[in-house]
Amino acid sequence: TKNNGRNGFSVYRPDMNPMGKSQVQLKNELWRALYHNELRLFYQPKNDAGSGQIIGYEALVRWQHPVRGLLSPDKFLPVAEKSGMIIQVGEWVLNEACRQLAIWHAQGNTELSVSVNLSALQFEQEMLAQVVLNALTTNNVPPEKMILEITETTAMRSPKETIRILTILKEHGIQVSIDDFGTGYSSLLYLQSMPASELKIDRAFVREINNNHTDTRLLAMIIELAKNMNLNIVAEGVETEEQQRQLTELGCNILQGFYFSRPVPPEQLVLPEIMVKPP
Ligand code: C2E
Ligand code: CA
Ligand code: CA
Ligand code: CA
Repeated sequence: TKNNGRNGFSVYRPDMNPMGKSQVQLKNELWRALYHNELRLFYQPKNDAGSGQIIGYEALVRWQHPVRGLLSPDKFLPVAEKSGMIIQVGEWVLNEACRQLAIWHAQGNTELSVSVNLSALQFEQEMLAQVVLNALTTNNVPPEKMILEITETTAMRSPKETIRILTILKEHGIQVSIDDFGTGYSSLLYLQSMPASELKIDRAFVREINNNHTDTRLLAMIIELAKNMNLNIVAEGVETEEQQRQLTELGCNILQGFYFSRPVPPEQLVLPEIMVKPP
């Protein structure tokens, strides 16, 4: 129990049901968080499998809560989704990621890209394409360096509308990545209709690579297929040197995971060395 002043005593239980008081409270606090700038973006590098060179970063949202501390997305994104606030959170993420990208580019790392996760609800927003384009133009960063990550499940929710919006964005040069590939139910045929430039192999596959022969063979087939479709193939959740070696051998050209770096705030990031051309 805790004395919360105005309302007397209340009990916080971590197992409260989704519609419980703590969730309603979290929702109200999330509004405040947006207004008071409590959200943060952490970044995790994406490395070229061959050279090890950092080619970009994935932005992952956090909430620096004044009382509860640093909250990971699973603690507040479900509430954001349920309340529709994910639209505002998503817009903040897009703008913040573009602002950070502009900083890296201004420092001379003009080849870096930033990857941003989009939720299914954002695709129900008719203005989504405009929101993305606004974030890019406001921060004066090239659309080619923006990668939007969407999961198979998101894409399958309203495939026509999703493809319509992604096609507009692609025409502007923005890249699309299919996230968590292998966990959903989409057909390979469907994948072909997506205007994607990148496929992210889900961590579940990466984890099994040494244990499960069938999974590994399936993965090899997926990679072969994605290559034929001219997609970049990212393996996520790479934690060991062994996984790094095997995934590279299997043909993944981009690797991401704790083996290289955990997601960290921008001030703790290791940036690629800037190639300074001799005068
Ligand atoms: P995701 O997009 O699949 O992101 C990868 C998650 O795996 C991240 O968790 C990351 O910290 C974690 N990860 C990275 N490398 C490793 C590894 O080697 N081992 C293990 N065990 N985990 C690794 P995080 O940051 O907690 O994010 C969880 C999910 O929340 C994301 O999964 C994404 O679906 C969602 N999310 C995060 N940021 C945003 C956002 O800005 N917008 C939306 N809509 N969703 C977001
Ligand atoms: Ca992602
Ligand atoms: Ca993922
Ligand atoms: Ca995931």
